[in-house]
Amino acid sequence: MIKRHISKIKSGLKNLSKALIVAGGLMIPLLTKTAQTQEPVRQNIESGENSVERNRNLLRENEYIVSRDVMRLYAQTVDPRTFGMVSGGFFEHDYLDTRSERRTFSDSLRARGYSNEEIRNFREMFKNKNIVFSESILDSPEFVPVLRHERMHKYISELPAEEQNTLNEAVDFIISDYNQKQPLWIDEEMRLEREYHERFRDRFNYEAYSQVQDKVDSLIRIYSPILHYDSRDQSFRVQTIRDNPKELLPYLMIGGIGSGIESVIENRFPQSARIYNRLKERIENETRDQQ
Ligand SMILES: [Zn+2]
Repeated sequence: MIKRHISKIKSGLKNLSKALIVAGGLMIPLLTKTAQTQEPVRQNIESGENSVERNRNLLRENEYIVSRDVMRLYAQTVDPRTFGMVSGGFFEHDYLDTRSERRTFSDSLRARGYSNEEIRNFREMFKNKNIVFSESILDSPEFVPVLRHERMHKYISELPAEEQNTLNEAVDFIISDYNQKQPLWIDEEMRLEREYHERFRDRFNYEAYSQVQDKVDSLIRIYSPILHYDSRDQSFRVQTIRDNPKELLPYLMIGGIGSGIESVIENRFPQSARIYNRLKERIENETRDQQ
């Protein structure tokens, strides 16, 4: 069950990566968890209309809000298997890359009563290095992390090629380190899960399930990939990053993955670290007042 569950989610993420994972922190549940564990108190205070207004004020040129309906239509056009809530993304280019996708998107907007001009506007919005959010996230505490994540995508894409290459050296190193080390625990992980399933069949046993997870976590600690996860919540993100390495730095910047990664980059790739820190600082400054 563990495996099946993970691979189902994994394939969902993979399919989305054509547009939306490249684009962003779309899987709201993943971000919600971090935000909740990190800042439970602030969240309660910040909810409500004030935070909507404050969040709206954070938006800059080329950053847009659409209704959740439009966002979902877009995501489902790009990948009909899209599931979960879509929070937004960075649209480096037009991901509706076939005529039939473009027609499907326009037709479904028309069916909802949007005018031709509005449809043209939406089509322009979801490309041109724009960032688009669903209104559904505007009143949520994960708006700022999602905004930071998407801006990191955007600012990286705007760097000169040379600086992008420098960043990629660090990213490639971390991904290949993970790929080399993963086989060292994956067999054992599968064996533990098989054992669990043989024992419990269709019943879910929380205690035994947690024990399997703890053992896998300790194996991962022993083989210590740089791209590790501190908790099971983060394992999906690790998958997302493996499937699309462009997600590494945007997740790193919002504290969405293993805490030791930044210091590895500092120590091994000081030039990459300088670029990353410069972007991170810029984004934090832009969004700090609203936190
Ligand atoms: Zn992303």
